[in-house]
Amino acid sequence: MLKTYKYRLYPRPAQEKNLLKILACARNFYNMCLSERKWAWELERRTVSRLDQQQQIKHYKTTFPQAKQVHTHVLLVVTHDIQKAFDGFFRRVQAGEKAGYPRYKGRNGFNSFGFAEHGNGFRLDGNRLKVFGAGRIPVRMHRAIPDNGTIKTCRIKYQAGQWFVAFAVELPDAPELPKTGRFIGLDMGISALITTSEGEKVENPNYYRAGQRKLRVLSRALARKKKGGKNRRKALRRVQRQHMHVANQRGDYLHKLTTKLVQTCDGVALEDLATRNMVKNPHLSKSILDSGWGIFKQYLTYKAASAGREIRFVDPAYTSQTCPQCGKVEQIGLPVRWLDCACGLSIDRDHRAAINVLIKAGWDTPLQLNVGDCAVRVVEAAGL
Ligand SMILES: [Zn+2]
Repeated sequence: MLKTYKYRLYPRPAQEKNLLKILACARNFYNMCLSERKWAWELERRTVSRLDQQQQIKHYKTTFPQAKQVHTHVLLVVTHDIQKAFDGFFRRVQAGEKAGYPRYKGRNGFNSFGFAEHGNGFRLDGNRLKVFGAGRIPVRMHRAIPDNGTIKTCRIKYQAGQWFVAFAVELPDAPELPKTGRFIGLDMGISALITTSEGEKVENPNYYRAGQRKLRVLSRALARKKKGGKNRRKALRRVQRQHMHVANQRGDYLHKLTTKLVQTCDGVALEDLATRNMVKNPHLSKSILDSGWGIFKQYLTYKAASAGREIRFVDPAYTSQTCPQCGKVEQIGLPVRWLDCACGLSIDRDHRAAINVLIKAGWDTPLQLNVGDCAVRVVEAAGL
């Protein structure tokens, strides 16, 4: 099992200068690789592979003097990055989506470089990260890497004027969690992040809205600053920091929520919503992106896999229109929050959808419909 551990770096000014040089060199190489692929295809209909480009690293290093202080693996990782960019492009073409050919990277669009093997170009030594060409950089190890973990690769990132290192650490597989006998269905919503088939709502945290508000204020301040000025650069930093802060908070929150779900449930069912399609709808889009469904799904899936839990994705058709008790299907407008069915089931709209998701998942588990008394509890992420 691979797990990422991210730490803040505190390079001295001279070290920072060297890190920026490595970053610039990696970016230059990236753009050259992109250029080669583009023109080989445009002019000769020839495909350039990752291995082709890997073989040019040596040539690149002897041709460009600034590349001498850059470790070969940094450039090797660049060839992997560019391959990934093209893989994504081809996948989108295949899927008939808006493809977006990989782009040249400007100074602001390229913010990380990586190493492929611990001890080869980088080494973590206590509270210092030794980086080839940049020296021994202080690291704030706010949490320890487990003794049974092995550092495989690393990525050095420059974000909002700060430096970070992210290690990919290999850990032995965790033992599977004991069975709990609990299966739940989830409705992913906009007012509440999720509603469970047991009638609990997990709201989007308030501090998240507050963070968004602050971001808007800072963005407006940035827009007023004169182009190219020092104050503009400072304002931009503040916007970037706030973005990072909001993303971190959301990440933390979703980590807590998904961990809790995986610990307490044998199976979790959710709608197989194509987030990408829904984001196109301008009214729904902001909230969908805000609540981070994509990240939620991703966290939940990998945690479930390592804990031996099951995630089932079900077809979302009619989950909100069907009564789980009598099976009656009727069209409901978006503003209706509470539903009273002729069969006597009186229930919150999202709760009902979540029950239908659970039914569709097909686990052999009893449903508690609590006719006439389906109160919805609002809980914190950790309280599920
Ligand atoms: Zn009914």
